[in-house]
Amino acid sequence: MKFYITTAIDYLNGRPHIGHVFEKIVADTIARYHREKGEEVFFLTGSDEHGFKMQQMAEKEGITPQELVDRNVKEFVAMKERFNLSFDRFIRTTDPDHIEVVKKIWERCKSKGDLYLKKYQGLYCTECESFKKESDLVSGKCPDHDRAPDAVEEENWFFKLANYKDKIRELITNGNLKIYPEHRKKEVLNILNELEDFSVSRPKEKLTWGIEVPDDSTQVMYVWFDALANYLSGVGAFSDEEKFRKYWPADLHVIGKDITRFHAIYWPAMLLSADIEPSKGILVHGHIISGGKKMSKTLGNTIDVDEALGRYGVDALRYFLLREIPTTEDGDFTWERFDIRYNELANGLGNLVSRVTNLAEKNNIAFSEKYQDLENISEEYDKCFTELRLDKALEVVAKKIEACNNFIAKEEPWAIKDDKEKLEEIIGICLVAIKDIAGKLLPFIPEISEKILSIFKQEKIVKAEPLFPKK
Ligand SMILES: [Zn+2]
Repeated sequence: MKFYITTAIDYLNGRPHIGHVFEKIVADTIARYHREKGEEVFFLTGSDEHGFKMQQMAEKEGITPQELVDRNVKEFVAMKERFNLSFDRFIRTTDPDHIEVVKKIWERCKSKGDLYLKKYQGLYCTECESFKKESDLVSGKCPDHDRAPDAVEEENWFFKLANYKDKIRELITNGNLKIYPEHRKKEVLNILNELEDFSVSRPKEKLTWGIEVPDDSTQVMYVWFDALANYLSGVGAFSDEEKFRKYWPADLHVIGKDITRFHAIYWPAMLLSADIEPSKGILVHGHIISGGKKMSKTLGNTIDVDEALGRYGVDALRYFLLREIPTTEDGDFTWERFDIRYNELANGLGNLVSRVTNLAEKNNIAFSEKYQDLENISEEYDKCFTELRLDKALEVVAKKIEACNNFIAKEEPWAIKDDKEKLEEIIGICLVAIKDIAGKLLPFIPEISEKILSIFKQEKIVKAEPLFPKK
């Protein structure tokens, strides 16, 4: 079995924010879960580097767009170490192999007759890098960016979406393209009919920073046509046949709710046009809000990533985000909730491991599989992953931790003086449960879980080092 998972590729107009971090951690956890199951996983992330906005920013700074992206990409690549991400490739849309793939896809769509030139008048939001309809706007402004789009008139290449609407509807309704959660799937099916052919290029006189359209040097590809193709380039399309055959189609694209239509409609249309099998799944996550409000510099409620990481370390941040934010809905980040969730983990798991390993060492009790686990949560846990609700999976594990602590409180093994068999049984049961818990936490909090699992790799159980040192 193979599992190919991707995140959205990030735009390099700033530093990574908490939303970027959340998306990467969600995808990383799913990737690690599938690796634990013994599947051959390929996990792709990267950066979206072309477009008008980058061109503008570079001009302002008096550097070339390439210099700008080379500088800004560093912090995104560094997320791997900082947040313990296990991605296999960081793709940049300026990578030469990607540029070749985009051109090939363009040529295929064109030879199918799906690309055509048209004069176009429209409203363009530079922040979204997309054209807006009047009906998309809220009091004349792009709702995602709170700015009025620019009126533009130009000749562009268009993609004949009309040719693929029926096929896309079929893919989604028969479950060959799964969209999580259900309400996002309905949303996509609702907008599918209204969507018109979309622009896939812009005149070079306006946009120079992009991939030139094959056989039309007056036009540069529209950033989405370029960006979406990264999922193909990432696994060797048109260059590494073997790798591509192994991993394609993508099993899951993890994306934010504001780019659903590009992934659920435009992307499958492009693939169908290019005679490539469409991806199989899309997980649409919500946005992180702060103190009940959308994060904004004006409100001063943005969450500083460095502060969040520095508070208790990487696993604590991973645990908090994955447990507190419902995977498929918006979720609130507050420092109070962060502290509560951290204490839940430190007290619940930390105490359990420390008490049990302490008693095991003192009484020379070894790990043995002859003891039955306190409860078997595997089925429930796996179901949460099938539904892509990582917060629910953590809830299931947290309940088991609590059940173990209650079991110990009731049995009071420290008070047992002369029934060695009984003591061995209680500790034995707890050791089996702890090993299971650590295995199930591994995709979420890899460092702490590995520390716990290492206890079972030694000849004798010895008291664990503190997992959550007091700060
Ligand atoms: Zn916008």
